[in-house]
Order: sequence, then structure tokens, then C-alpha cells
Amino acid sequence: MAIDPEFEQNREIVDEHEGHDVWGPVEEPDELGIHGTHVAVDFDLCIADGACLEDCPVDVFEWVDSPDHPESEIKADPAEEAQCIDCMLCVDVCPVDAIDVDAGRAGRT
Ligand code: SF4
Repeated sequence: MAIDPEFEQNREIVDEHEGHDVWGPVEEPDELGIHGTHVAVDFDLCIADGACLEDCPVDVFEWVDSPDHPESEIKADPAEEAQCIDCMLCVDVCPVDAIDVDAGRAGRT
């Protein structure tokens, strides 16, 4: 399974976290939704591999704790999504296809 690139149509914004939107459903600790809009990370797919944090040239991602989530106890949060330069490295390196990047979404939230 990969992140749904149509999540804007298929999900609702249910929260805000560190300046970015959270797209539901969210039911902690098992279900955490998608964080971010321009740079979107499906927290329910993220296994905390860390390649995105290592490879992003502008340090968009930060670890956040996700205790008791079935996939991983930390998640790659797109904390600085406004810095994204759309290089697509994170999309390419994510082993579980948890990330989608689309600058066209950025201004619509
Ligand atoms: S597309 Fe590139 S700049 Fe944007 S978050 Fe991913 S790795 Fe960082």
C-alpha cells in the first residue's frame, strides 16, 4: 500500500501540527492520518526508516514520537514543508511509499 495521492479529495483536515495540516481519520495511538499537504507523510505507513531525513537537502523532516503505533514509535514529520524544493528524493527513497510531494496542493489549505 502507498499513500493516497488523492487524499485531499478522500480525507478531511482534522487537526494542525507544527504549522501543517493533519488529514484524518485519526484515532490515537493506532491511526495517525497524513501529516502535511505540500509534503504529505502517511503516518500509518511510515516505518521510521529515516531515509527521508537523511536525504532531504533542505531538512524538511523531523522525528516525532508515536508511542504504541503498530508500524513504528517515531514518524518522519514534514515540519518544514514550506522549505521543500520538490526534488522528489524523499518520494524515491521511502521504502513503503509513505510520502507524496505536490507543490500544487500547497496553496489550497
Ligand atoms: S521533495 Fe526533496 S526537498 Fe521536498 S521534502 Fe522531499 S527530499 Fe525534501
